[in-house]
Amino acid sequence: MHFSVLTIFPDLFEPFWKHGIIRRAIQQGQIQKRVINIRDFAKGRHCVTDDRPFGGGCGMVMKPEPLAAAIQSVVAATPSGPVILLTPEGRRFSQKVADELSRQAAVTLVCGRYEGIDERIGVNYIDDEISIGDVVLTGGEVPAMVIMDAVARLIPGTLGNRDSAQQDAFVDGLLDHAHYTRPREFEGQQVPEPLLSGNHARIDDWRLENALIRTFLKRPDLVARKALGRRELQVLIQWQQRLERIIDAQSLRGADPSSRGG
Ligand code: SAM
Repeated sequence: MHFSVLTIFPDLFEPFWKHGIIRRAIQQGQIQKRVINIRDFAKGRHCVTDDRPFGGGCGMVMKPEPLAAAIQSVVAATPSGPVILLTPEGRRFSQKVADELSRQAAVTLVCGRYEGIDERIGVNYIDDEISIGDVVLTGGEVPAMVIMDAVARLIPGTLGNRDSAQQDAFVDGLLDHAHYTRPREFEGQQVPEPLLSGNHARIDDWRLENALIRTFLKRPDLVARKALGRRELQVLIQWQQRLERIIDAQSLRGADPSSRGG
């Protein structure tokens, strides 16, 4: 995968390449990266990349000519792939979008600054627009890192077996199950017994049930949207039955199900 990033602050990316899975993927050749300083494509003594907005108003706008030249230089030098503008107006980034991008041979990320880029760049040079959420940041550099980080771990070979992406949150429409490591007891809290049993079927069962509970409590929208498998439905039915037994027992004791609280 070729990652190309266009920015006026190339130094921001130096620490990003130097650590963990990204660093290993670069060393192993699974990722090729290029950071292009948009300033290098600006004309004039001061290499200006921004200018005042037509129509007035506050803030500056990134000029189209340096951006166009920088994008052309990347397109000429890398395998074909989408040129993506980071913008709060773009489609929302998600695990699904990361998965889609991980299948590309190359991804080029254009980082805006100030009030954003000149609108006319979008027409001829941008294939896609991505937002990392309904929030406005000072620049596209952090969103670009978010995207590269999420995509990098989906490229075959970047993760070892130890940290396989197959078991992550969102991969099968549920959040991840809880994780525990040593010690067995921490501040009075025990590791759940099935995880210590050595019985793989019990461990898988516990993890599935735990992932379902966590998703149901934290992101019920995901459970509602997911096409549940047989085992997952069984788990839900078992909870329903357990809840019904508790509610029945409470009703027999005289509790009024329609009143809230004690
Ligand atoms: N005037 C723009 C607006 O209201 O949409 C905001 C521009 S923002 C201060 C500067 C740059 O940061 C944008 O051009 C974009 O590249 C980047 N940016 C800010 N928030 C973002 C987000 N949520 N997702 C992706 N990129 C973002």
